[in-house]
Amino acid sequence: MFNSIRNKLTLLYAACYFLFILVFIVVLYFSLIKLMENEQLDELESYYIKEQHDFVEHKDDKEKHLTFDPNRNFFYYIYTNDHTLVHGDESFKGLYKELENIFQHEDASKSMNRNLEWKEQHFLLLKKPIKSANKVDGYIILGKSVTTQHHFFQKMIWLLIVLTCIFSLFIGFLSNYLAGKAIVPIKQSFEKQKKFVADASHELRTPLSIFYSSLDLLEIDEANNLTPFGKELIVDLKEESQLMKELLEKLLFLARHDQNQWFHKKEVFDLSEMLSKVSTKFERTIPSTISFNAHIEKNIRLIGDSTRIREIMFILLDNAVQYTKEGTISVSLLKEDSTIKILVQDTGIGIHPDELSLIFNRFYRSDASRERNGTGLGLAIAKAGVQQHDGTIHVTSQEGKGTSFTVFFPIPKD
Ligand code: ATP
Ligand code: MG
Repeated sequence: MFNSIRNKLTLLYAACYFLFILVFIVVLYFSLIKLMENEQLDELESYYIKEQHDFVEHKDDKEKHLTFDPNRNFFYYIYTNDHTLVHGDESFKGLYKELENIFQHEDASKSMNRNLEWKEQHFLLLKKPIKSANKVDGYIILGKSVTTQHHFFQKMIWLLIVLTCIFSLFIGFLSNYLAGKAIVPIKQSFEKQKKFVADASHELRTPLSIFYSSLDLLEIDEANNLTPFGKELIVDLKEESQLMKELLEKLLFLARHDQNQWFHKKEVFDLSEMLSKVSTKFERTIPSTISFNAHIEKNIRLIGDSTRIREIMFILLDNAVQYTKEGTISVSLLKEDSTIKILVQDTGIGIHPDELSLIFNRFYRSDASRERNGTGLGLAIAKAGVQQHDGTIHVTSQEGKGTSFTVFFPIPKD
C-alpha cells in the first residue's frame, strides 16, 4: 500500500517539477529570442537614424543604382512610392527582388519590421517611410543578417532538450527521495493506528469474555429469581456480546494480517472435497427462491489452512445469498493454466461500477446492502485470507444482473 502511495507521490512531485522546469525553459528560450531581436532592431534603428540624411538624397536618383559588398553589416534598398527600386547597398545578391515581391503590396508610409528566411539565410528587416516636407516620397528597407544568431538559437534548442533530459532524471531521483521522506510520518501514524486496533481488540477480548460468562452464570444461578423480562434481557445481552466477540475476532485477525503477525497451519488438504462439503451444507440453507449448482473438479489439493479457506468460501457464499433475492448461485473449482481457480457467481442485485474498487475496504457497505445486517468486514477478511495463501481475489459485476468473485491460488509444487 505504501509503495503505491510513494509511487503516486513520486509521480505527482515529478510532474510538478517537470512542468515547472519545462515552463521555465520555454519562457527563457523565447525571452532570449525576443531580447536578441530587440537588440538587432535597435541596431537597425540607430543605423537608420544615423544615415537618414543620405537616404533622403538617394530617393531622387534617376536610375537604379546598386552597390554590392558581402562584408557589410547592414544593407538597405530605397524604393519610390510605386515600389521602384532606385538605390541600394546590398550584401546579398538578388535579395532586393525577393523584397520587392514581399513589400509591393504594403503601404509606403507604414513603418514595420519582419523576419525573412531566404536561401537558407535569415534576415531582420526594417521598413521606414522616406518623408520630405511632411510628404511620403518613398520608403527604405534596411536589413541585417541574423543567420548566426538563428543558428545559435537552433543549437540552443538541442542543448535545452539535453539539459531537460538530464534534469528529468535528476527530478525523478529527487521526487522519489522526497516522496520517501513525506511518507515516513504517514507510515508512522498508520503503524500506530494498526497497533492501537490490535491492542484494543486484544484488550477487549478478556473483559468481554468475563461479561459473557457472568451473564451465563447469572442466567443459571438466578434462574428462579429472574422475571421473564429479565431472562429475555439476558438472552439479548448474550447475543449482542457474542456479536461483539465475533467483531473483535475479525478486527484482531485483520490487525495481525496488517502487522504480518499471522500464523496458520500449512497442511496439504483436498480442496475439492472441502468445497464439495461446504456446497452441500450451503445448499441446505439457501431459500427456495434460489437455485444452486456446483461444478467441482476432483482431486485438487492446496497447501494452507483449510479452516481459513472454508471461512473465505462461507464469506463469498453468504454474500451471494444475502444479495440475491431469487436466481441462481453457482460455485466452481477447476485448474486453469498454472492456477487453481474458484468461482462464486450469483444473479443477484450486482454492484455499481463505482463501488467495485471499494467493496474490499474495511467496513465498506453499499447503500443497497445497509438494510441487511452485516459489518462490512467479510470481503476484507476474505481478501486477507486469500493473500495469506499467495492468492488473488477479483470481482466483476453488473448492476441488476449479478456478481462473480474469482479466487486464484498457485498450484502447490510436488
Ligand atoms: P459482513 O461483514 O457481515 O459480511 P457485508 O456483507 O456488508 O457484511 P462484505 O461481505 O465485506 O460486507 O461486503 C461488502 C459489500 O460488498 C456489501 O455490503 C455489498 O454491498 C457488496 N457485495 C459483496 N458481495 C456482493 C454480492 N455477491 N452481490 C452484491 N453486492 C455484494
Ligand atoms: Mg458479507
